[in-house]
Amino acid sequence: MPTTCALCRRIIPDEASADPQAVQEHHLRPEERATSPTVLLCRPCHKQVHAVFTNEELRADYDTIELLQGAARLEEYLSWIRGTEKLDIQVTTSNRVRDRR
Ligand SMILES: [Zn+2]
Ligand SMILES: [Zn+2]
Repeated sequence: MPTTCALCRRIIPDEASADPQAVQEHHLRPEERATSPTVLLCRPCHKQVHAVFTNEELRADYDTIELLQGAARLEEYLSWIRGTEKLDIQVTTSNRVRDRR
């Protein structure tokens, strides 16, 4: 069964699902693994979400998929990724996020 990424809404083809990391579980409330709702994201989306937001920001402001889809910081990425078939990307963590780790 092909999986749909909850964020970019691209369909991950069955061939790609052979790669166990192609689709990843994202905890909408990071660090609350036991109780957090989860969504399935493609690898680029998962990387991107953690590159532009700290876990704190995710918990406070982006703990639903709708909030993530509407996030200004993801807008450019989402319009780009939706036009590609890439299932792996290079992501540079923003300084802002890195400084707070
Ligand atoms: Zn995605
Ligand atoms: Zn995650």
